[in-house]
Amino acid sequence: MKVVLATRNAGKIAELQRILAPSGVELIGLDPDFEPGPETAPDFTGNALAKAREAAAHTGLPSVADDSGLAVDALNGMPGILSARWAGRHGDDVANLELLLGQIADVPADRRTARFICAAAAVLPDGRELVVEQALPGRIIDAPRGTNGFGYDPVFVPDGESRTTAEMPSDEKDAISHRGKAFRALAPLLVDALRG
Ligand code: IMP
Repeated sequence: MKVVLATRNAGKIAELQRILAPSGVELIGLDPDFEPGPETAPDFTGNALAKAREAAAHTGLPSVADDSGLAVDALNGMPGILSARWAGRHGDDVANLELLLGQIADVPADRRTARFICAAAAVLPDGRELVVEQALPGRIIDAPRGTNGFGYDPVFVPDGESRTTAEMPSDEKDAISHRGKAFRALAPLLVDALRG
């Protein structure tokens, strides 16, 4: 079952291919010259659906997309949907992480709770739409640890863990992550819709 993933990011394709392989869904990327529109929805599910709609319209194939971010309780849920450009430039992971650590530097350990959130969406060529949202709860530590992963991984410790998600091997992170849970929840719904 071939499904387009609305991203040009090879790392994301590899990660989601790993997560979706057991359900028989094979992901293909978008052509490199495809220019995605800006993310303008007010929430993760709206942005994930918009990206999947855009890819389905462009390719005429069933398409999936995700939108994710970090919600920090001491910042009233921010950076949230603005996680990728929190320091002002899209995708500057180091600046984003340093800005966040500075903002919550005086927040005591018991109030440094946060969660990674991921919405996963699918849009079929006939217009049917599916969307699910999942979270990974945890807390923000004082200084970065670990070199795996990306984004805020070096400062995020999941509940029940002592390692940051940047200190966990990718298969262990996939098993508990917001993105892993969201795509594992979406997969059977998508397989049913593709058959039906
Ligand atoms: P997206 O590609 O628009 O979903 O951007 C998500 C942003 O949220 C990324 O640039 C990261 O800053 C952050 N983020 C989402 N998921 C993760 C994760 O698993 N680890 C670390 N940061 C994440």
